[in-house]
Amino acid sequence: MFFTLSIRTRDRSEMVDITSQVEGELRRSGLEDGVCFIYVPHTTAGITINENADPSVIADIQATLNRLVPWEGPYSHLEGNSAAHIKSTLVGNSVMVLVESGRLKLGTWQGIFLCEFDGPRSRKVHIKFQ
Ligand code: ZN
Repeated sequence: MFFTLSIRTRDRSEMVDITSQVEGELRRSGLEDGVCFIYVPHTTAGITINENADPSVIADIQATLNRLVPWEGPYSHLEGNSAAHIKSTLVGNSVMVLVESGRLKLGTWQGIFLCEFDGPRSRKVHIKFQ
């Protein structure tokens, strides 16, 4: 059994902090010790863990990804969103966090971010506790 978050993104490129929503699902699951798998079933979105204390870190990550992978090609993919597909592959579509005493074992400054690369859209995030 797994849980699914539905996230509505607002911009073409956006990183949404979903840490508190994952913690909410963890509390509902009742899991005390184990692992939490988080999976994004999209080809133009991703998921990552990084700093959620200073928002300029996320701004720098987004700006750097945009410099590395500009929206305008040349690309072959006719849908016109190759940059989003490439960023999705660079960032990855799953993360795993340990669970101890009913809590995510994240570092002090770490948060879990859904990465939107071709929004705004409705996105799903699947979460499995084991
Ligand atoms: Zn496409």
